[in-house]
Amino acid sequence: MARDPRYDILFEPVKIGPVTAPNRFYQVPHCNVLGHARPRAEAANRAVKAEGGWGVICTQEVEIHPSAELAPYVEGRLWDDRDIPQHRLMTDAVHEHGALAGIELCYNGFHAPNLYSRIAPMAPSAMPVHGLNPAQARAMSKRDIADLRRWHVEAAKRSRQAGYDIVYVYAGHNMTLLQHFLKPQYNQRSDEYGGSLENRVRLTREVLLDVKEAVGQDCAVAFRFATDELIGPDGLQAESEGRDIVAMLAEIPDLWDVNISDWSNDSSSARFEPNEGYQEPYTAFVKTLTSKPVVGVGRFTSADAMVSQIKRGVLDLIGAARPSIADPFLPSKIDAGRIDEIRECIGCNICVAQDMLAAPIRCTQNPTQGEEWKQGWHPERIDTAASDDAVLVVGAGPAGLECALQLANRGYAVTLAEATETLGGRVSRESELPGMSSYARVRDYRENLLRQKPNVEIYLGNRLGAEEVVDLGIPHVLVATGSSWRRDGVGRQHAFPLAGIEALNILTPDDIMHGVPLGGRVLIYDDDHYFMGSTLAELCRNQGHDVCLVTPESRVSVWTENTLEQGKIQARVLSLGVVVICSHQLVELVEGEATIANVYRADLQQRLPFDSLLMVTSRYPQDELYQALLAFEDRFKTLRSIGDCNAPGTVAAAVYDGHSAARYLESGQDYYAPLFAREIPALD
Ligand code: ADP
Ligand code: SF4
Repeated sequence: MARDPRYDILFEPVKIGPVTAPNRFYQVPHCNVLGHARPRAEAANRAVKAEGGWGVICTQEVEIHPSAELAPYVEGRLWDDRDIPQHRLMTDAVHEHGALAGIELCYNGFHAPNLYSRIAPMAPSAMPVHGLNPAQARAMSKRDIADLRRWHVEAAKRSRQAGYDIVYVYAGHNMTLLQHFLKPQYNQRSDEYGGSLENRVRLTREVLLDVKEAVGQDCAVAFRFATDELIGPDGLQAESEGRDIVAMLAEIPDLWDVNISDWSNDSSSARFEPNEGYQEPYTAFVKTLTSKPVVGVGRFTSADAMVSQIKRGVLDLIGAARPSIADPFLPSKIDAGRIDEIRECIGCNICVAQDMLAAPIRCTQNPTQGEEWKQGWHPERIDTAASDDAVLVVGAGPAGLECALQLANRGYAVTLAEATETLGGRVSRESELPGMSSYARVRDYRENLLRQKPNVEIYLGNRLGAEEVVDLGIPHVLVATGSSWRRDGVGRQHAFPLAGIEALNILTPDDIMHGVPLGGRVLIYDDDHYFMGSTLAELCRNQGHDVCLVTPESRVSVWTENTLEQGKIQARVLSLGVVVICSHQLVELVEGEATIANVYRADLQQRLPFDSLLMVTSRYPQDELYQALLAFEDRFKTLRSIGDCNAPGTVAAAVYDGHSAARYLESGQDYYAPLFAREIPALD
């Protein structure tokens, strides 16, 4: 297939100062927590995107000095010359595929608690450090300011030695010192670096000019800037100072990389920003104030939306972090006319969660993400089948679909049996919940490809029992039959079912998703802490029920702190009129009434009347088929339970497990991944 001429514009080269991007696909800086601890994995992770056609590939934040280091998070590091060789790995790998390499130099100021270096953090004015660390940052002296400028210059020179083509100056995400200087909330200085906007911009201007001089004639300087913080006059706004700053610095950088702040707004989940290009209202003005190219993001996955951004003069380069994570080959697929093979990001922010947890990147849609070096996985290539054996996959949720697709890609003859009349399992059900429609992409991408494969047979409405599976005589069987929500309240808080609960009419998320009607007053008990409890609260309110959500945790959907959604979720359920009771657990249940107690003081109790009680606590693996098949284990070369049937978890975990099972099919009953590659510090 050939590229649709409508998309030719996306493949035009773009001049960025003295360098030229080969096309308009630009992987903006994003974290992956491989970084300085895992440099080979870092290089391989970035290289695969260059191979997939992204014209510019950037690092994550790169610390330039130990006085702003991000432990326990693992980002990039360029403190001195000894850090250069690991950056070389990345730039060489990216250049090999004809892409430009960019480095995001970063000084985090009071956002870096310096848990490793133990140096007191710095800020424009004395203030508490970010987060809840019991520490404060000290106000910077003139000497500190001179040091900061020198550190940027030294890091810029090292970046050149490491082979980067674009060097960043970074004032965004509310995370960097230069942005802190721009904001009156943090900058209360009375010298020439504080007060008027001209003064607050001074340091950024100086650093930009310093870095430009330091990088020389053949390297570009990008300025990453958040035009708006979405907190009204309490922060920078695109309509006032955000705009003025762009006007003041317009022609200094070679490239404007613009977005919105803080990170939860920039990387908004699909639940809160369902549409592509959601940053346009805040960043479109930038191109009217500068002649330099502008890159911006907005979870772009469709070629038409990208073309529209260029043609309407909103952006010159299509920036992407998450869409490049979900599909490193997105540009190549557009180029080859294979649009319907793009693995579109679903905006779940599981990738972000890994960063928040200081663990290497993973992705719901792309199970190979972060595994490029560690397990040698490639997003578009997989070993061919080792035999002519047939394979049976039972259950077509995320695990079964991914497993079947990859086995088919390998060339195996695949039979996929699904009990219901639709593919997708949990994602088909959950995508009907408020704010969750993008999860259907997990199914749609895989279903589309599976239906085109001549070596795949799909049987819908086919609930298999153990004897039928044995009778099929297929040597490899992967059981992906999923999980179901528990009705008995057992979860993190309750190890045993509550007394008398079996006599009551308790509802679960599965019931709601199957359309079981609810009474007027709904009580939701959330001991799961991910999206389900709050999503169902939203659904029930939308249906007009009175809703009370009780959780043993101190906040609603507390794990979504990691997906940058928690604050938005709590705000939304409160605005919808959901009554939220945190730090409480169920202690007694009778028909129509629950008694809850404070988790710290069992004697602080209250009674809550309800018509329907909805338990969101934990799930049972639905593994009856697998357990029954174990009696016939010697009839199979492979018998494995995968995904939620093995251990209920995230959709990302199920997709990964399905993928892994397909890659390692031949390891038979010993199915754990072959020992993966590790980066071990050299003891020289
Ligand atoms: P996962 O997240 O692990 O993929 P899901 O719960 O999303 O799990 O999907 C499991 C799928 O398996 C569901 O679509 C379910 O209908 C199907 N299923 C369950 N039991 C059987 C069975 N015995 N035969 C065929 N399909 C089954
Ligand atoms: Fe997109 Fe989710 Fe993958 Fe992140 S983890 S890139 S949000 S699909």
